[in-house]
Formats: sequence, structure tokens, C-alpha cells
Amino acid sequence: MIEVYLDYNGSGPLDPRVLEEMMPVLSGGVGNASSVHRFGRRQAATVDAAREQVAALVGGRTGNTIFTAGATEANNLALRGAVEAGDESRPRVLVSAVEHASVRQTARWLGSQGLAKVEVIPVTGGGFVDPAVLEAMMGPDVLLVSVMAANSETGVLNPVAEIADQVHAYDALFHCDATQMAGRMAFDIDRTGADLVSLSGHKICGPGGVGALVGTRHGLRRVQPIIHGGGHERGLRSGSVNVPGAVGFGAAARIAVEEREVESARVAGLRDKLVAELKAGVQEVHENGDVSRRLPNTANIHFAGGDAEAVAANMDSVAVSTGSACSSGSIEPSEVLLAMGCTRTVAFESVRFSLGRFTTPGDIEVAVERCVSAVGYVRDMTEEGLSRAVG
Ligand code: PMP
Repeated sequence: MIEVYLDYNGSGPLDPRVLEEMMPVLSGGVGNASSVHRFGRRQAATVDAAREQVAALVGGRTGNTIFTAGATEANNLALRGAVEAGDESRPRVLVSAVEHASVRQTARWLGSQGLAKVEVIPVTGGGFVDPAVLEAMMGPDVLLVSVMAANSETGVLNPVAEIADQVHAYDALFHCDATQMAGRMAFDIDRTGADLVSLSGHKICGPGGVGALVGTRHGLRRVQPIIHGGGHERGLRSGSVNVPGAVGFGAAARIAVEEREVESARVAGLRDKLVAELKAGVQEVHENGDVSRRLPNTANIHFAGGDAEAVAANMDSVAVSTGSACSSGSIEPSEVLLAMGCTRTVAFESVRFSLGRFTTPGDIEVAVERCVSAVGYVRDMTEEGLSRAVG
């Protein structure tokens, strides 16, 4: 059975070129990057070269790039770190309704501890933050606003540059989780105007368990560490750096920058072919989210009358996602789709396809064939079940 992987927004496969660059560090590198001996200094130089590559992914400064254990940690550091560094004059933290759980849950926790007054910024039916809605919520008592660059479930892009201007008009901090956008489309920290940007290695075909918080100098000054210890990473993230992880993340970032433009056009072509063929093969197919403003690799599709878990389970070795991968296993419908005004039924019947670097035209053919037959099968079963129950 041919396996097809269409869950790149969940995690991308490690690029063999990245692995090749990691191998010498995995097999031969010794020394703690913060030790002063020659071995340590060599490791530190290796980490700094990787740091430069990660910074370049978003046009950031090498010295303002803090390695973390992933975007989850970067998001925790940005939100909790900013709140702990803040003062009583700015108790409010605004987070969009479609943020990743690591932003939403951190915000919720800060609220539950009485450390911040957290408010959720609603999104439009298209899945993005409307600047006019944010403007009505802003005020001089806002400490931080967190709005992601691109949503992991729908791929929908937020107007982040406009949002940054609004946030800065109140001298508040703008945190942007660019985990899904960086590497797939150009994202520049200066042009965007973000103060703090979260990134993750495994979303760009690098290793898992490594990420970064890239900031402006101003942004990082307004953050306190949440992990205390030996004062690594500018004092913002203690703990010996994961050297192979950093090297792999750096290599993945460099490759993404080099190939981003050509690759995103290729992947968008495959994604559009997938959607067109599904629409041709299955009735009542609808795409969730504003398709005029989204990542090139993502499609979130509602198959009316086709329970998504059942469809996915019947797609025989084609990996797709239903709801958020990070909270799969739960039976709750996607909070992102609900926040966009979708009904619970629509949310339960929606499947995310996310393509990437190693997706081929052959993969799309297989995926279409299996998806069309899975939707047909699930719909038949449901109708049969319903008519049996009724009759
Ligand atoms: N933010 C977004 C937008 C994500 O999609 C993810 C991964 N699902 C994360 C943060 C968490 O990343 P990590 O796995 O590196 O902790």
C-alpha cells in the first residue's frame, strides 16, 4: 500500500540534507557550548552559525535569536515572560481566537493565576483578525497582543503588519507566532513589525524539539526568562543548547529560504489540483477559511455528511488531519473552525490537507482517489445507518 503524507502542518519529514549536516555534530561533536575550553568554543561557534541561519529565516538579528525546545516553549516565553516583566499599568493581554493551544492555554493560565486580564480577539468567518475589531479592543492598558501569521488548520493569513502598527500606537508588544508561515512564505520581522516571533524546526523539515524566539532588541528587553539556571541564551533560556537540533534547524532554515519561492508555487499548484479534483469527484465540498489569503500548502475541506474521523480512517495510508493535530485524540471539534462561526457538524466533518517539500503529483492522485472513495463510503454508511435507525 502506497503511503501518502499530507500532514506537513503537523510535522514535516526531516530533509535528508538536514540530517547530513546534523550527522557530524551527532556523531563527533563534544563539549558544552558554554564551556570556555576549545571543545566548548567550537560547539558555541557551531551554534552561532546555526543561530545566524535561523535569524535569517525571518530577517532577524543573530544576537536576538533565542533557541528553545520548540514553538510551544517560544510562545510560553513570549507571553508569560512579557507578563512577568510587565507592571500593573498594563494588565491586559489580547490573543486571537485561532491561536495555537500553546498561546491560548498560556494566556488562559496567566488569567487563572490573576497575572493578566486576558481577552480573546474574535476572527471573521474567513478565519483572520479584522483590524477594526482589534482597534476597538486596544487601549493604553494593553501589555501584549498575540496574533499568529498563518493558521495551522486553515492556512489563513492575518494582516500582521497592520496589526503591528495598531499595537505599537499604544506602545504595547506584538507577539507573532510565525511557525506555519516562516519557510513557506516570506516573513520579515522588520517589515512585519513584530516584537517577538515564534518558530519551530520540524515545521520546515528540520528536527523536532527545537525552535526559537526571535525578537527585536526592544521586544526581548521586555521579556523575563521562564526557565532559570545558568543564564544561557542571553539569560532568557537557561539550559545547555541542543547543538544537533540547532544545527538541523539552521540547515532547514537556510534551505527553506533558498527554495521558498519556487517551492511554494509548486506546492500551491498541487494543492489547487487536489482541491479541484476533490470538488470534481465528490459533491458538496466546501473549503473553510478565506482562500484568497492563505498558505500555499494548506486546504481545509468540509465534506458535508462525511464524519472527518471516519473519512480519515478510511483513506488507507493517506495521512491527513482532522482538527488540530496537537489536540487530536480528543473528541472536541476544532476550536479554530468554531471560532470562525462553523457549526459543530461542519467542524466534525472537516479535514485538513497540508502538503510540503516531498509531495509529488503521484501523491495527489492517490490522495484524491482514496479520499473520494472514503467520503462515498462514509456517506453511504451514514445514510444506511440513518435509514435503518428511522425505518
Ligand atoms: N504554533 C503553531 C502555529 C503550530 O502549528 C505549532 C505546532 N502544531 C506550534 C506552535 C507548536 O510547535 P512545537 O511543536 O515546536 O512546540
